[in-house]
Amino acid sequence: MLIEHMSLTKVTSAILVAAGAPSAHADAVAHHLVEANLKGHDSHGVGMVPSYVKGMMDQHVDPHRHAQVIKDNGAIVSIDAGTGLGRVVGIEAMDIGVERTKKHGLACVALGNAAHLGRIGAFAEHCADHGLVSMHYVNVVGHDPMVVAFGGRDRRFITNPYCCAVPRPDGQHVVLDMATTTVAAGKVRVAHMKGVPVPPQSLVDENGVETTDPGVIFGENASGAMQPFGAHKGYGLMVICELLGGALGGLFTMQPEHPRLGATLNNMLSILIDPAAIGDLQAFDQEVGAMIDYINTSTPADGVDRVRLPGDPEKESTARRMQHGIELDPNSWNSVLDSAEYAGLDRAQVAAMTTITQP
Ligand code: NAD
Repeated sequence: MLIEHMSLTKVTSAILVAAGAPSAHADAVAHHLVEANLKGHDSHGVGMVPSYVKGMMDQHVDPHRHAQVIKDNGAIVSIDAGTGLGRVVGIEAMDIGVERTKKHGLACVALGNAAHLGRIGAFAEHCADHGLVSMHYVNVVGHDPMVVAFGGRDRRFITNPYCCAVPRPDGQHVVLDMATTTVAAGKVRVAHMKGVPVPPQSLVDENGVETTDPGVIFGENASGAMQPFGAHKGYGLMVICELLGGALGGLFTMQPEHPRLGATLNNMLSILIDPAAIGDLQAFDQEVGAMIDYINTSTPADGVDRVRLPGDPEKESTARRMQHGIELDPNSWNSVLDSAEYAGLDRAQVAAMTTITQP
């Protein structure tokens, strides 16, 4: 089915309010989730609503919380998110980082104990909109591990994301935003909902044997695991995200002494740089532009229409989905309606609030 994005945002916000979020927070989170759908990342779109609703109703997520500064060293700020909604506390943390970077040229923001931050690119784009380069090392905690270490058989990590954005004066920022697993966990969930296989080298079964069946992660009695991308190199970045995002960002890694209550939490260490503080901003913009032109004129390989930059697929998807609607599989949509009911809303009324452009 194809759903018009503005009505999807309205419905999502209404469900989050019913589950206990203040309306301003619900609106911000709904926008964040639907934006992820628009960008093509259904893994981090409205398919997350059931887990957000459950997290709030089980009181593992505090929807009223704001980011709270717990240590302030000027250019380095530590923030406790107190299980506040990721989008809300994440943007508040970035706003502090932007302000400090404008003052000092460089800032480091450690954000600990946030409820699921969702698409990390949103935080990097927020910094880029202020003209800043940013790097984000993130770990994922709060539930059982689902990713093997390189060379290992049993699960040790969740799907730590890494993100880096370089600002462009025209707003067409270069944004690398990725899980350090071959595919993001949410994409395995979407594949399971759709009943389709995942790409090769994504998963292993309980015996450590590679499989493309998403049921080994999301099926009943699932006992498989996800794999880091890019063999030892992707795994290395996953470890660094765990140690910088988890240990430095929030003193909360996947080591087994920490609680695993079932709600997804993130810790994020962000480093923000003002290019103008390093050198000549105009010369930097020109050099970046010239390199982008050089990359864009690369001859495509067989079967590829054009060479892209990190962030291009998301821009293309947004243009397409804004015009034609967001594609949602019926199982994901049903799980959103289930969560509306769970939060006390009338399923049929919620469905009727949505503009479905193609059933
Ligand atoms: P992906 O594999 O779709 O894309 C990864 C990166 O590669 C993106 O920057 C994209 O622009 C770029 N890319 C894709 N195709 C390209 C091409 N042909 N040429 C050039 N660049 C290309 O993303 P993913 O790893 O599935 O991650 C999806 C989302 O999941 C991200 O937004 C990430 O932040 C989010 N995530 C969040 C968490 C969390 O706990 N909050 C955990 C894991 C992932």
